Amino acid sequence: MLTLRRRCGNSVVRIMVTERCDGDCAPLDGSATPTLTVLRQVHGTRVVEVTRPGGHQGTCADAAWTSALQATLAVRTADCVPVALYGADANGDGAVAVIHAGWRGLLDGVVPATLAELRHHGIRDVRAVVGPHICALHYEFGSCELSAATTALGPSVAARTSWGTPALDLREAARLALRSHGAVIDREIERCTASDERYFSHRARGERGRTAVLIRLEPKPWPERPVSDSEQEREATGATTERFTSPLGRLEADPEGEAPGD
Ligand SMILES: [Zn+2]
Repeated sequence: MLTLRRRCGNSVVRIMVTERCDGDCAPLDGSATPTLTVLRQVHGTRVVEVTRPGGHQGTCADAAWTSALQATLAVRTADCVPVALYGADANGDGAVAVIHAGWRGLLDGVVPATLAELRHHGIRDVRAVVGPHICALHYEFGSCELSAATTALGPSVAARTSWGTPALDLREAARLALRSHGAVIDREIERCTASDERYFSHRARGERGRTAVLIRLEPKPWPERPVSDSEQEREATGATTERFTSPLGRLEADPEGEAPGD
């Protein structure tokens, strides 16, 4: 699992990107904790506001945002693009969001819908972390759908697979949607779910398992001290969860190797 920490206004943001070895996050009932929100993803553009930890658990939506401290938001993917967003308002109060962005959601505007919602609530300087997803070389796409995608998103989303057929570049599509609506890309995790077996792939291997991206707003460490570079990014290895049970509840409950003094 990759864990990122970022300063965000008066808070700190923790972003967790799971891998296959952390367990299968597909089961929706994997949450045993009351502070986790896992959406029932339907490839739509609905964005929900989570006003308390655990709010909207199981709601049909593909994006969620919150300004509530300690509310963990999660999206689950295998090839689609998971996006985590964070920003703060003029008072330094932070907000975080997650987006499940498949090709349909990208075409229909789930990314701008989420950014508009944050903007509407005064959240600015929004930054994005783009999680692992299928790369263009492995994402064959029908010509008709591809022409709809280039019309909606721009010609640069059209690509070719490694075997020479039309492909959709989901990374470019997410990049364009984020940048053209005011978000700055903090980090792209450039790992392809089809070729990197640390992740599940529906397309390449017909897998039903899902990895997850989780984001949570946390109080600043007290006494206040800067988040060091080494703390901002840390790769945790050697997860000990039993495989094939949803680890989401455990991840949410366990701050996962918090540095002493935090
Ligand atoms: Zn690939």
